[in-house]
Amino acid sequence: MSASGESGTAVSVTGASKQFAPLVALGDRIAAALGGSVERRSVRAVDDVSLEIARGETLGLVGESGCGKSTLGRLVAGILPPSAGTIRICGEPVMSQGRRPRKLTTRVQTIFQDPYASLDPRMRIGTIVAEGPVHHGLVASADAAAYAARWLAKVGLDPDAVPRYPHQFSGGQRQRIAIARALAMQPEVLVCDEPVASLDVSIQAQVLNLLLQLRRELKLTMLFISHHLGVVRHVSDRVAIMYLGRIVEIGPAETVYARPQHPYTQALLASVPQLVLDGDAPGSFRPIAGELPSPLSPPPGCHFHQRCPVALPRCSIESPQLRDAGPGQAAACHLVASR
Ligand code: SF4
Repeated sequence: MSASGESGTAVSVTGASKQFAPLVALGDRIAAALGGSVERRSVRAVDDVSLEIARGETLGLVGESGCGKSTLGRLVAGILPPSAGTIRICGEPVMSQGRRPRKLTTRVQTIFQDPYASLDPRMRIGTIVAEGPVHHGLVASADAAAYAARWLAKVGLDPDAVPRYPHQFSGGQRQRIAIARALAMQPEVLVCDEPVASLDVSIQAQVLNLLLQLRRELKLTMLFISHHLGVVRHVSDRVAIMYLGRIVEIGPAETVYARPQHPYTQALLASVPQLVLDGDAPGSFRPIAGELPSPLSPPPGCHFHQRCPVALPRCSIESPQLRDAGPGQAAACHLVASR
């Protein structure tokens, strides 16, 4: 599905898949050594995904835990090599001969969910922020402290915090440090993997607004991964819905939220609890029936057919492809294909 926009494509994912082979248990290894047969099934975390993100655009990637959205983010960031398919950042392959080209490191950066785990507790904040830029020649080591201070100020922190350590900051401040570290590399593409999920609700809005402000100011392209539909709607130009490794719907955020075409998107939106204020009628929400199937043995045909309230007999046999479902919108459902 193509990204709209006249200024070109920043991220291009074509037929990307990622499989993980689970570790073989000791019992299975012994059985194999004794000549027994051991079944080795792999997890297909990302399954033949194609999408594009235009320069300056934010694509929100939504789905339940375990749907493969973080793995797709890591493929785009070049942290994991794809098992199949290609991923390009501004025209350059993210992987070349199994390795990430050096200049790609500065072009795409990642902000992770947990600011407690993503910052080295033994390093000073100034070193954390400036280490990458110095290593990649973006700034001279003599200017590293001043460079780090500039980025700390940019994310709303005291520039004098350069000599301090991560444990001296709150969760929200740590996430600002993680944002400063990513942006100090002067990337064109930012992969945000649940960047506010571990923060207090009162802090989430501050960090989101900071990201939106910096996106505008620095003309960043963003892949924004979240399981929170409200957050994704707030930040995204377009949104992609992922289910068991596949994109099942993609389109302009407002359109997908107002007129979801895929039964999974419809179920996902209906499952969001609404806040009930004084005087309001009690809200209602409908949890999605069943559970996400194991990616070790995904159902045949449409992966969603066991939970889909409108499944057809063919749904358990034929896998639906993404098809046009409106202006800029596409959904992978046999019902959409027959309309
Ligand atoms: Fe439901 Fe069939 Fe559409 Fe899958 S393809 S979402 S099972 S109607």
